[in-house]
Amino acid sequence: MNIKKLDELRQVDDRTLRFTPMGLGLGVQMRPEDAAEFQQQVVAQFELAPEVAEGTRNSFEDLRKVFAYGLFCYEIFTLVNDRGLLVLEQALRDRFIDHHKGAVAFVDLDGCQHTVSAPNYQQLYSVVRKNPRRKLLFDDGETIDFNGTLGGLRTWARHLGLLRGQRNHAVEQAITRLRNTAAHPAGYHLTTPVDAARTLSDLAEIINHLWGVTTPGGRLYPTLIRREVVVLAWDAAGTQQQTALADELSAAVDPGDQLWQCVIVRAVFRPDQHITDPGLSEFDSRCEVTQYPADLLWGPGSITDAAAWYAEHRPEPDECDYLDRTFLIRHDGADLYLPVRPSVAASLPDADQCGKWYAIKADHPTDAYHHVRNLIAGVGCARRGRCSQCPVETIRVGSYQEVISLTAAPATPLPPDVTTPWAHPRSRAIT
Ligand SMILES: [Zn+2]
Repeated sequence: MNIKKLDELRQVDDRTLRFTPMGLGLGVQMRPEDAAEFQQQVVAQFELAPEVAEGTRNSFEDLRKVFAYGLFCYEIFTLVNDRGLLVLEQALRDRFIDHHKGAVAFVDLDGCQHTVSAPNYQQLYSVVRKNPRRKLLFDDGETIDFNGTLGGLRTWARHLGLLRGQRNHAVEQAITRLRNTAAHPAGYHLTTPVDAARTLSDLAEIINHLWGVTTPGGRLYPTLIRREVVVLAWDAAGTQQQTALADELSAAVDPGDQLWQCVIVRAVFRPDQHITDPGLSEFDSRCEVTQYPADLLWGPGSITDAAAWYAEHRPEPDECDYLDRTFLIRHDGADLYLPVRPSVAASLPDADQCGKWYAIKADHPTDAYHHVRNLIAGVGCARRGRCSQCPVETIRVGSYQEVISLTAAPATPLPPDVTTPWAHPRSRAIT
């Protein structure tokens, strides 16, 4: 080993200087002073909430502190990244102990219940290893296999809703694979500061969510998504469309020379931030075509009538959850129908109930639709449970009655039947 002098240890690593706020610099690099501040700023934004267990917070804080020293030694980013993957397991263990408050219930194969003292995870883990056939018992009476490893902890956290979301499940799977690679390396690898920072960012979001804290603007666990009251308007010829916040209705008038129609919906639309739900122009009051939930509030009708209704009722924006929604999809003959909510499906007339129905859990309706299309085409999607090809879980496939009884959605009046001129056909022939 080459023993360096103190001055040599203090020398910056040129490889780190090439990572700039604008990305990887080709032929350019940052000044060391700027890079020192930049790399610290990168990880400064990943904060764990005070609710998180102290041991997990300390481990995560060590990672943030050491990250900056990648300025002097590029290999530190790999060490931070790999160690970070192990901190996820520590967080799950700490949360498990927090949740159970010292006593964990198990059941034997013969149904006999045991309460195990769990002042810390090591103690619990040793009991679990000695009794591998016992199942973990939840307060709701459900049981799961539990071997105390990362996989068992993830299943436990998902059962309690501490981990959620179908796309997040794929991220957790990827992190678990990386964690296993880091714990049992098959060869040498080097991680960039960008990848190490992404790992810390994802970890912070997941760990905070374990303790019930969401991340504003987060990638995995954002706070509830805000929906505005929005006007969708289109001309009679179906050649022009306008989308605006309903507040602007007070100044709106019907164009005199042509007939415009409009609806008022609650949907994700923030023009000041250039955010529009990508499915909004194809809005369909009875089918799920928007990425986030969108609800019809009024319409269709003229812009003047919309303005009068809005002035009288003044509906407010709201916040809604979009993870792990259930979508129902009908396949009848050759026709595959767009996803609908359980409440809409529960209210359909007899004529619209025939065929095979799929109940799919997904974050977005397009994920559910593509999965069912793949199932029908037989191109590799899983017919039961969680799909390894797409971020969904198949809850049930069967007749209308079987699927509806499973979702237990109450029949409510169907929303008025409204579509924009750009809406997708509600069914397509699948060949
Ligand atoms: Zn699939």
